This record gives sequence, C-alpha cells and structure tokens, in this order.
Amino acid sequence: MPEISAPIDLRSDTVTRPSPGMRRAMAEAPVGDDQYGEDPSVNRLQERIAELLGKEAALFVPSGTMANQIGLKLLTRPGDDVVVGEEPHIVWHEAGAAAANSGIQFTTVGKGGLFTAADFRAAYKPPGHIVYPPTTVVAIENTHNRGGGVVFPQKDAAAIAAVARELGVGSYLDGARLFNAAAASGRTLAELAVPFDVVSVALSKGLGCPVGSLVAGDRATTAVELDLATVQTNIVIFHLRPGAPDAAAIVARAREARVLVSAFAARTVRAVTHLDVGPDECGRAAELLAAVIERG
Ligand SMILES: *Cc1c(COP(=O)(O)O)cnc(C)c1O
Repeated sequence: MPEISAPIDLRSDTVTRPSPGMRRAMAEAPVGDDQYGEDPSVNRLQERIAELLGKEAALFVPSGTMANQIGLKLLTRPGDDVVVGEEPHIVWHEAGAAAANSGIQFTTVGKGGLFTAADFRAAYKPPGHIVYPPTTVVAIENTHNRGGGVVFPQKDAAAIAAVARELGVGSYLDGARLFNAAAASGRTLAELAVPFDVVSVALSKGLGCPVGSLVAGDRATTAVELDLATVQTNIVIFHLRPGAPDAAAIVARAREARVLVSAFAARTVRAVTHLDVGPDECGRAAELLAAVIERG
C-alpha cells in the first residue's frame, strides 16, 4: 500500500513555515516594549530592512495588507485618484480597505499588471480641476501576483517614479514579493525600491516567517517639498505634499509643541528666523516641526 504522505501544497507561498534556525532565533530574540521603541529585535529588523531598501526608516506591521493601507493613507487624501496596473492586490485582495481607510479611487492602466510611464502620464489628472479627482499616487506591484508573478521591468518602474516626481505625485511600490523580483532580475532590493517614495515588503511569504511585513520610506520626504534654491536669507517656505495634513493643522500642532510658524496658504507654511532666535533654537524648531509633520 502506498504510504500516506503530506500533500504537495502549491496553494500559496503564505503556507511557508519557519525553519528550525528561524524558530531558534525567535526563541532567543531579545525583546522589549515595541510601543516605546524599546524592542531591540524589532528595531534591528526595521533598521536592516530600511538599509536593504535604501530608505531612511521602516515600520514593522503584522500584514502586507496593513503595510499597503498605511502607504496609501500616507500619500493620499479622501477623493484622490491612484493610478495602478490591472488587478493589483490593493484593489482585488484587500476587501475594499483603501476605500474605507483612505476614501480613494483607482484608475487602471496597462496590461497584465504592468504599465509604462506613458500609460501613467495619459491617466494623470491634475489637482485643482473642476471635476477631475486629483491623481496623487501611482502604485506598482513587483512581482505582480495576479499577473502571474511577473517582474515589473525596472526601466518602466524607474521611468514611472521619475514622472511621478516631475508631476508632484507620490509613488508606491507593493513589494510583498520584492525578494522574488530581486532574485529573478539579479538586482538588489535597493535598486528596485529606491525610485519609490514608499515601499512594502513581506516576510511571511517566500521568506517563511509566520507573520509580518514592513513599510519603508524616507522620514521627511513623505510629506514636505522645500525648494532650497529660495532659502537664501531668513525666510523658509515649505509646501505640504498630498497626504500630509494642511497648513492650519501643522501650525496648530506646532504651537502645541511650542514652535510658532505661519500658515502662508492652505498647504504652505512659513518660518522666519530673526535676531531673537539662535542656531540651537532653529535646530530644535526644525526637529519639532519634522516630528509634527511626520505624525501626519
Ligand atoms: C500577499 C500580498 C499582500 C498582502 O500580504 P498579507 O500579509 O497577506 O496581508 C500584499 N501585496 C501582494 C502583492 C501580495 O501578494
């Protein structure tokens, strides 16, 4: 009689289990209170992933869906339009969460999950139009799940991110399987991730971890645009990018942190240095302002 063996499980790469080495590392991991930023293992993981992705910071979250939702929420405001390829995870596999959490809509371009910078440009809707929903994010998925695990051509990915920067649009990379894309393309994770403002990666698929994803980005460039060429004397004017709170909210929160600045326009803030503030106070004010803006 043939032996009854475990089935060959090809349903998904989420069925992967931790290796003995991983289980040992988990059992022996130093732990602390993550809410206070005192879990040394979580801190190390976040630093390591940020470094691998060429980003300033990363945040460990329980699932890839949560990572995607945080990324979209960071970069959009309700009513915004997000340009995506066909059948992305954020539209098909997240139970309408982007509509519920961020109040956004999607415009689909390209074929089989892939698209070009020209496709993106043709779908772009500018802000301030009387009827168009403003396009504030373009999102790609690499590799693309429903597209059959295809690797997004890096030439197109980089061109899409460059056009996004040119248009003042945020860029997001759903990299739940970015480790697969790196292995298949022979590129580093950083090469694949660096063109994008915010990037997620999953630990719970091909890597075999029981849970977990990370969402990574740069600390300040998620939220602010500052033209350094205009900072020549004592006036600093910065603009709040899509997804960041508006100027009135930033001014109110800065006041709570005991830094006084002015709302110069709906999404523009002005800070003016003068005789009565020294370099140390300016440095401290910059840190406090950055913290207020990052809090979102
Ligand atoms: C699996 C997957 C996610 C979500 O990960 P979960 O941890 O299952 O929430 C996000 N994006 C893509 C492309 C995925 O395949």
